[in-house]
This record gives sequence, structure tokens and C-alpha cells, in this order.
Amino acid sequence: MDVTAVDTRTGRWARLTGAARTVCGVALGVALPQLCAACREPVDGEGLCGACWSKLSFIAPPYCARLGVPFPFDPGPGILSMEAIADPPPYGRARAAVRFDETARVLVHAFKYGDRLDLAPLLGRWMANAGRELTREADLMVPVPLHWRRQWARRFNQSAMLADAIAKASGVPVSHRALKRLKATAQQVGLARTERAANVQGAFGVRPGARREVKGARLVLVDDVLTSGATTEACTRALLRAGAASVDVLVFARVVAPARLPI
Ligand SMILES: [Zn+2]
Repeated sequence: MDVTAVDTRTGRWARLTGAARTVCGVALGVALPQLCAACREPVDGEGLCGACWSKLSFIAPPYCARLGVPFPFDPGPGILSMEAIADPPPYGRARAAVRFDETARVLVHAFKYGDRLDLAPLLGRWMANAGRELTREADLMVPVPLHWRRQWARRFNQSAMLADAIAKASGVPVSHRALKRLKATAQQVGLARTERAANVQGAFGVRPGARREVKGARLVLVDDVLTSGATTEACTRALLRAGAASVDVLVFARVVAPARLPI
């Protein structure tokens, strides 16, 4: 098992950023104030102020057992939404910590593009809570990979950082090498659903060296946001083709269309 051969680049970068903050703070003789990642007001503690925290829509049961989309009322255990029955995804179950709304969007944006890597432990803990059902049965977590050129430009993979944070809370190990992005895809933003699916078709594969750890394993695929599902579905298919026993999906935020119960 190559699980322990964790790619340390993300962790190293997080430490460097932390170190840079400490050095700056020491040089100025003050502790740099922590700002809320959403509204940029100073906060005590972790990256988000109370007002912005209360604006987040945490997803809790009752929800579709398959897609994790919240139901307006409790139809009983194990009930699936119309979407899950009519168009079942290749993955087993999906869970998300929050709805992808304006506050969640600002938070994800700050984390991904705004150097707010300090948010990873907080987001990861929320995800670990939302995905407890999945991680309890999982052998391994697999983050959605970036193409190496994009990772090089951004210096870190946000999904890998979230997976590491979830691993701390759940004890499930992370394989940073299992999935590989085979082609650099256009940004999914602004593409229609069918275009998104075409864009990521054949974009992911399991590394030959990781086939042993994937075969027969119960996996949790980790990403930051679930929108059309095209990326997670392409990753799931690659993992199932390589012999994974099951693939569940755990994201920080998901787009939630009103869920329809089966009639
Ligand atoms: Zn705030």
C-alpha cells in the first residue's frame, strides 16, 4: 500500500504560509489579526466570524440517501429523491457540508484563490461531520486531482488539503497518487451540463502504481464543490474501472436544486 507516501507539497506549503505569517508578526512585534474569510472583519479564532458562520446553510437530514440533497420533510429512512431514481449517478452516495450559496462561494473562493489555506482544518472538520456515514465504511480517501500545470500555478490542490483535514478527524488515510488528471481541461465555470461532461470525458485515470490500493477498496472521493457532478462522475468511473469496490463522494459545498420526493 502506497497510502503513506503522501504528497507533502500541500502540507509543506501550508506550513510555509503559517511560518511567513509568524515571521511577519514577529518582525512587526504584533500578532497579525485574523480576518473573516467571507466579510474580512477581524475575528478571534478560526477564519470565519459568527455572523458569516450563521449565514452558511449546513446540510442535515432528512436528505436523499443517495444524493444527499435535503428533503423539505422527513419521508422516512432510505428514501431516494426523484433525481436519484431517474438518473442514478455512478457513485454510491454523495454528502456535502453546506449548500453552495453566496456565503459558501465567497468562502471557497478565499480558500482556493485567496491564500486562505488556514481554512482547511475548519472546512475539513465540517466535511468530516457531514460524511461520517461514508468515512466509517471507507478504506481510503482520494482527492480530485488538478492537472500538474494548474497545481504548479496554484501551488496546492485544494481538494488534497481538504482530504488531509478530513483524515485528521476521521482516521481514514488519503491516497494523493491514486488519481491522475490525464488532460488539462477548460474551467467548468460557464459551461452547460452536457459541455461539462464532454469537457472531463477521459480526463482522469488511475495511476498504474496505485491500482493495487484502489482494487477492491471502498473509496471516498473528495472535492471542494459539487455542481453538475461531471467531474466527480468522471473520477468515479475511472476508479470503478480500476476495480474499486465502491466510490462515495464528499464535498464541502453542493449546488442544491429543490429535491423532489418519489411519488
Ligand atoms: Zn464574516
